[in-house]
Amino acid sequence: MDELPRALMADRALLALRVSIALACAVILSLFGWTEYQAREKELRNAQDSLVNLSRSLVQQAEDTLEMASVSVSGIARYVEMTPMTAQTERPLTAMLRKMVDRTNQLTALNVMDASGNRIATSFHLDEDKLNFADRAYFQYHRTHNTDGVFVGPPVESRTIGQRMLTVSARINRPDGSFGGVVIAGIRLDFFTTLYSQFDIGKNGSITFFGRDGSFYTRFPYLPKLKDFDFRQMPHFERFFAEDARGTFRSPSPYDGVERVAGYMRGTHYPVVVLAARSIDEVLAAWRINFVYHALTALALVLAIGLLGFRITRDIAAGQRAAAHLATSDGLTGLYNRRAFDLHLDACWDAACHSGADVSVVMVDIDYFKDFNDEYGHPAGDVCLKRVAQCMRQLTRSQGDMAARYGGEEFALVLAHADAVAALRIAQRLRASIEALAIRHPRSAASEVITVSVGCATVTPLSRRAVVGSPSTLVKAADMALYRAKRYGRNRVVRWSDAIDADLLRSPASDESRTMVEVVG
Ligand code: GH3
Ligand code: MG
Ligand code: MG
Repeated sequence: MDELPRALMADRALLALRVSIALACAVILSLFGWTEYQAREKELRNAQDSLVNLSRSLVQQAEDTLEMASVSVSGIARYVEMTPMTAQTERPLTAMLRKMVDRTNQLTALNVMDASGNRIATSFHLDEDKLNFADRAYFQYHRTHNTDGVFVGPPVESRTIGQRMLTVSARINRPDGSFGGVVIAGIRLDFFTTLYSQFDIGKNGSITFFGRDGSFYTRFPYLPKLKDFDFRQMPHFERFFAEDARGTFRSPSPYDGVERVAGYMRGTHYPVVVLAARSIDEVLAAWRINFVYHALTALALVLAIGLLGFRITRDIAAGQRAAAHLATSDGLTGLYNRRAFDLHLDACWDAACHSGADVSVVMVDIDYFKDFNDEYGHPAGDVCLKRVAQCMRQLTRSQGDMAARYGGEEFALVLAHADAVAALRIAQRLRASIEALAIRHPRSAASEVITVSVGCATVTPLSRRAVVGSPSTLVKAADMALYRAKRYGRNRVVRWSDAIDADLLRSPASDESRTMVEVVG
């Protein structure tokens, strides 16, 4: 396989690995997010379920109380209808009212009013009773509604003891069916407040009791400002009296702004609702602690995977770079190897085919190097090769230039944009700089020091006149020039001239003596 496609595939594999690691991290974080979201929802749902259950039992209890009051007022009304009020009948009635109130915790008062609203019997211990209740809502209601049913009125403040009460009342009919008065039972609202305070609904929870007409009955914790609050203004009010008798919701409280989860239950026989709510903050307190632990674990995991992935991909990339370097460099001199030289020359050639630039190749061979080895040994030969390589390297300052070890004691330069004159100048500098190293070589017939023979060739790939038609023939031309430099005495530079060497290049076997070369230096 070619170097480039292989490198490209390695790059893609590395990219795929990086993307996979990033994906794995994203999946872990998403899974964590999803799981935590589910856990949070479960907490809230559980809280809502238990709040509905609490509301159910509290509304049941409220209805039992209302039922007990209803039975009482209806019974008393029937009694009054059958028993005309006189000084003799009033006494046992008052005793009965007191007994009934004393026997329950919920009832605070039982009153009987005549058709004008004057109290004619009461459970209160009063010496004189001159109060009139004709203005009360329940009184107005019964005066205008001739029904057997009881009326659950808006809470009132007792005129006798100043306590807030929920009123349950029944109409008294005269024998002719006309309005004869009202019996009312006052249910202590603080009884419910105390009851609600016994349930654990957290510091910011609340239990609220209210009626269909929007009247506020009570709430724990008690908020006096709610006394005149119309519950019909609550965003969820209509839901409370819709088809489902119970339900849940989450929303900020309209009167204290606390975000709560709530469960409610409507009474089945009376138009009342109990709404129990807990602060979302408190419901999620335990979940939040777990969330922090889990988040830290997930983050640590993602960080570990990310870090590990980063290290692995970095090492692989470094390995790839090292492998690429190994594949393209010469172990002894550190210059590019022949394979890299060939690839680079191909690339320069292709670029020059588009740009119309010149491309030059300089071939270099150390003179009598075998003799040098024989004189000083192979290790010294290696050192010499390295020093020559250093000279080569110093001449590749322009972009696109490359110095390579072509093989053994042969080196080559690719000069990407150098024309023939520039290439020759560089070749001459190279020859001189190696001679200037002054590495002693007593066995050389060319000099007393290490020298090189150099051949260079230049071509414009776009030029129609070019005899050299491929990178390999360009190398061959430079090599031929080098061969001539050897033949004409070594330690010199020969430039290949296409006008003269054309035939030779086409047919290496043809008679070399026919050709002339340009010998420089
Ligand atoms: P000429 O002037 O014609 O080029 O003569 P030469 O002796 O340089 O050429 P020849 O091809 O006969 O010998 C090349 C020598 O280069 C033979 C070999 O021992 C030596 N050589 C090749 N590679 C290495 C190397 O890596 N290290 C060392 N020390 N010597 C090497
Ligand atoms: Mg050689
Ligand atoms: Mg040689």
